[in-house]
Amino acid sequence: MMRAAIYARYSTDMQRQASIDDQSEICRRYIERQGWTLVDTYADSATSGSSAFRPGFQRLRADAGARRFDVVVTEAIDRLSRNLGDIAKLFDELTFHNVQIHTTGFGLVTQMHVGVMGMMGQMQLADIREKTRRGMAGRVREGKIPSGLAYGYAVVPPPPGAKDAGERKINPAEATVVERIFRDYAAGMAPRQIAAALNAEAIPGPGGRPWGDTTIRGQVDRGTGILNNTLYIGQLTWNACSYVKNPATGKRVARVNPVEQREITAVPELRIIDDALWQQAKARQNEVRTEMGKDATGNPLNRAHRSKFLLSGLLKCGCCGAGYAVVAADRYGCSTYRSKGTCSNNISITRQSVEARVLAGLQDRLLTPELVATFITTFQQELARLQRDSGQTQARLKDQLAAVDRKLEGVLRAIEDGAWNDALKTRLNDLEAQQASLRQQLQAAASPAPVVRLHPNAAALYAAKVAELHTALDQPHIRVEAMEVLRTLIERIVLTPDETAPNGLAVELFGDLATILNLASSTGRMPGKSAALGTKKNPQEAGASEGLLSVVAGARFELTTFRL
Ligand SMILES: [Zn+2]
Repeated sequence: MMRAAIYARYSTDMQRQASIDDQSEICRRYIERQGWTLVDTYADSATSGSSAFRPGFQRLRADAGARRFDVVVTEAIDRLSRNLGDIAKLFDELTFHNVQIHTTGFGLVTQMHVGVMGMMGQMQLADIREKTRRGMAGRVREGKIPSGLAYGYAVVPPPPGAKDAGERKINPAEATVVERIFRDYAAGMAPRQIAAALNAEAIPGPGGRPWGDTTIRGQVDRGTGILNNTLYIGQLTWNACSYVKNPATGKRVARVNPVEQREITAVPELRIIDDALWQQAKARQNEVRTEMGKDATGNPLNRAHRSKFLLSGLLKCGCCGAGYAVVAADRYGCSTYRSKGTCSNNISITRQSVEARVLAGLQDRLLTPELVATFITTFQQELARLQRDSGQTQARLKDQLAAVDRKLEGVLRAIEDGAWNDALKTRLNDLEAQQASLRQQLQAAASPAPVVRLHPNAAALYAAKVAELHTALDQPHIRVEAMEVLRTLIERIVLTPDETAPNGLAVELFGDLATILNLASSTGRMPGKSAALGTKKNPQEAGASEGLLSVVAGARFELTTFRL
């Protein structure tokens, strides 16, 4: 007597879908006709056919291994899985345990059935994906936007009864911000500084979140980030990334598509940035990229801007706020006193003196263990807050995404069952667009929460690094590079007359503590040729901060002052 088990699967959103009860009933009759005994029914509801992560399915496999039954009966082979690999694997597994598979329509399933049916299922899926892609490409050609709403744009309310909500228009307020970002970047500001300035003015970023340097910088090859969105020059690009399922985890991962596979359509009415400005920004990106080598993933310590002198542009007059400029050979003085005479600060200082004091200060006084401790406490509070916010957002987005996934599954299933029409196609495209948008948002929400570890000895590490950079200043081939790294530690230096101070000038250094700590924690990620600067990559510290410090710090941390 053959012992039979039933496997049924049902997804809530499927149209024309037999319920688990209906499927089981069909299987029961089949078992009866064969004269077998039903021992158990395994079922999964509301789960994807292409995922093997189903409790009923897993229980079925386990019980087959325990030889609880001799035959599995299912209404159709794709109830077991819609993935050829999964079906083939299950077939091999069951065959190994001497368990047969029967479908109520075909009877005994053989190796050949598995191949053919699995392939058909696979082809149908591929066909649907291809149709979706073509559908979305079509929308790109029509100038409609297939996925998320980019910063700088608003949705045009569709006319009543319209099934298409893909129209976009420029949002003038956001467009102004986009333009400002491009101008600032082209003018030499770092994305980190631009983000900090926007946050300081309480201008909300994409999705109402604070600005971060990565939001602005993005990734050139993926077309992400404000600076890389071609929509701002009236070009709609689609298909920059495709999502493939990793068979090992069942999760989808983004892959960058080659440029020739991308769809580009002109949408001149959506242009925000003129070509000249766009080209300036691109030129600067190239510059930054070249200087930083291939590892151009955005370490905020890197700056393209290069100055002739270590402190050029960083020195300010404490009386009037104007710049301390070169007033004579190797001598800095207040430029207002010099040019307009409206400032009373007549004290000048030699370049060598001020550089020596700043370097000594950077090295010995800037980072004390107490400061590091304070920073870590504040930082962890801030991080906890961000993670709390981000956790809530992520949970909401995940719920929305799961709902869209379920709906999509239903549409795909209906199409597989033969119901292919324009309404379904539109629905499929809309759902795919929603899915892509939600994924993007989820990715964005998930990005600002990596773990930051500071080396317990950060203060000492930092001092050692500054000493190393100081030495590098005397070595012509790496001088410029070392100088640029040192300059990133300094926001500004304020010079105020003070008879008690050396040179008759008090020197105050304003630095972003986060940036400073970043130097201490970024051992392996010195800008450009770290090997040239003699830094060794320490596996314990590699990947410690990845630039997060400054992203967080941009919003919250006050500048730290040091009297040198
Ligand atoms: Zn002055």
